[in-house]
Amino acid sequence: MKNTIKDNCINEFDPNALEEIQAVNKIIGSVKSIKSSERVKIKDALHRTISSSVRASINVPPFRNSAMDGYAINLRDLKTNKFRLSEVGASFAGKPFRSSLYKGETVRVMTGALIPKNADAVIMKEMVSKEGTIVTFPKNIKKNQNIRFIGEDIKKGKIVFKKGDELNFSGLSILSSLGIEYVNVFCKPKISFFSSGDELVATGKKLQQGQIYDSNRYLLHGLLKDLPVDFNDLGVVKDRKNDLIKKLQKASKTSNIIITTGGVSVGDADYIKDALKEVGSVGFWKIAIKPGRPLAFGKINHSYFFGLPGNPVSAAVTFQLFVIPAINQILSQKRKKMILIKAISKNELRKKTGRTEYKRAIISIINNEVHVETTGLQGSNIMMSMLKANCYIRLPAGISSIKKGDLVEVMPFSTEL
Ligand code: AMP
Ligand code: MG
Repeated sequence: MKNTIKDNCINEFDPNALEEIQAVNKIIGSVKSIKSSERVKIKDALHRTISSSVRASINVPPFRNSAMDGYAINLRDLKTNKFRLSEVGASFAGKPFRSSLYKGETVRVMTGALIPKNADAVIMKEMVSKEGTIVTFPKNIKKNQNIRFIGEDIKKGKIVFKKGDELNFSGLSILSSLGIEYVNVFCKPKISFFSSGDELVATGKKLQQGQIYDSNRYLLHGLLKDLPVDFNDLGVVKDRKNDLIKKLQKASKTSNIIITTGGVSVGDADYIKDALKEVGSVGFWKIAIKPGRPLAFGKINHSYFFGLPGNPVSAAVTFQLFVIPAINQILSQKRKKMILIKAISKNELRKKTGRTEYKRAIISIINNEVHVETTGLQGSNIMMSMLKANCYIRLPAGISSIKKGDLVEVMPFSTEL
């Protein structure tokens, strides 16, 4: 395949289009956070946002214990006994040996088991030799080796989570290690979405000429599923202003966010912006990015409205760049910075200045260098190149071309490459 990107969509520079960063700031500036919270079982709090801080009421670990299967000793006593001690018992995880060590004694300890109060080192099982109950130790022992200290992971009194922190699997582990069963989290925002377009047909039905399957509702389902939100798929609405108005008004009664796809451009059948104007207010509706230039943001009663473009790639990119920050803001989450890394472009790339462009691409590490290559056709209808991609190449507004071997900014889809 040729390295130059084929582009069959000619978008002219639009002086009225908002810059990407300005658009994000405008969204963040107008979206208010949800105040209400609920108390849920910690398992149900996965990916959700903590609404009041959580303090450790115990130490983790709560007692001194062994990091190895081995023998607990008292170093000074070991030296006076010429590195030979008598095994007087065993301490298991959950079945502790509670007594102190007396002169000449050692206790066999398992990983996680309580160690005697006056023990100051644990020697791995594999490092000792044993004859009957007499254990011979090596000479190179360091004080406190293989001992896990009280509170070395979490100190009693420490604030482990603050308002706005998101809970992940580590968070669930930490809360449970503190014995916590319930946690306060912000209520989930309610998101409603629908597709608009006369050409759209639901899967399972037969296509007539000129029709296509509605894939954007599935795309949005996939994007929303892993987020701490409740969502409602409202189906497909025809390209009729009154139908759109009715649907938007109804959705605004129960939604924090309404998302539509399609009908937001300047075509003869694009009624989203007009419908939004009638039922609410338009914040902005054009941004200087590609893919995704027409994007309407506004308010309908108490709902925030996102009119995403109809082309699936544009819908995905604008969701990631603009809807995600709004959801984070609604949930009082800390503003996440985009991860941008530099990579060597394997392609020659061309673009128009005056808008930021995102290309679907694959990042790879070759000889300790980060390389990036586009995944094929970059038209905003080409989902196959999104499927293969693990990152976007982000080309800032001022750039017009990239040569093979130039450094480009890359935004990985996840931090696991
Ligand atoms: P529009 O923004 O309505 O002008 O649509 C732009 C392009 O995206 C057109 O080719 C539409 O057919 C396509 N499109 C719009 N909505 C969807 C959808 N829900 N699923 C798949 N393609 C869509
Ligand atoms: Mg349309």
